[in-house]
Amino acid sequence: MADRTPLMAGNWKMNLDHHQAISLVQKLAWTLKDAKHDFAAVEVAVLAPFTDLRSVQTLVDADKLELRYGAQDLSAHESGAYTGEISGAMLAKLGVTYVAVGHSERREYHGEDEAVTKAKVAAAFAHGITPILCVGEGLDVRKAGDQVSHTLAQVDGALDGLPAEQAAQIVIAYEPVWAIGTGEVATPEDAQEVCGAIRARLAELYDAELAGGVRVLYGGSVKSGNVAAIMDKPDVDGALVGGASLDPEEFARIAGFS
Ligand code: PEP
Repeated sequence: MADRTPLMAGNWKMNLDHHQAISLVQKLAWTLKDAKHDFAAVEVAVLAPFTDLRSVQTLVDADKLELRYGAQDLSAHESGAYTGEISGAMLAKLGVTYVAVGHSERREYHGEDEAVTKAKVAAAFAHGITPILCVGEGLDVRKAGDQVSHTLAQVDGALDGLPAEQAAQIVIAYEPVWAIGTGEVATPEDAQEVCGAIRARLAELYDAELAGGVRVLYGGSVKSGNVAAIMDKPDVDGALVGGASLDPEEFARIAGFS
């Protein structure tokens, strides 16, 4: 089987000013060090607000931390008259490894559709940044039993025309909207059903070898008490963690699921 190093990524959302971000990263680094976290075995990343990224970069560089960091969004445009937007080039200058694209909160509150999501995936790759493509169904879709077809349609839309060498690098996060920030975590079987279907779709769109190397994460109310059972599923390669990533000790416990 392909080597898929698990990725535990914390999405801070719109929380923490740059002072608080420094404090959290320091505490997280100490806690992971105390726990003898093996970064080669489980990658750990934080997705910080734009205004925190420079501080996180300085800390990571100064202390030679193995922690990765990224942004929660980027502009689909290269540069120019797009007031308030942040480009892939700007993020690349700050040394980000990852950027979340298509988070359900972007889709819901900013009307980001498949075309925008696809353009943002391309913009990230254009600057050497790995997109964490977020997909997943709302409660109505889940109740109707259409979670797989709904989520695969989002995958199809975002990956449309994406070259294989980029698709091989992408990270996909299955995040059922009804589980995000609600405390209602998907069962490990729910997570496996859709993560497995995403991998099967990658095999159809590209090939089995490529699909076997892509990391597919689960996100939605992940905590230290439920992460191990979810990570035990064969097609789940990590977690995108919102609320629980704001507590460095809890996030370190989540990162050490194994
Ligand atoms: C998220 O924001 O991507 C998320 C999964 O949030 P939470 O862990 O709080 O449900």
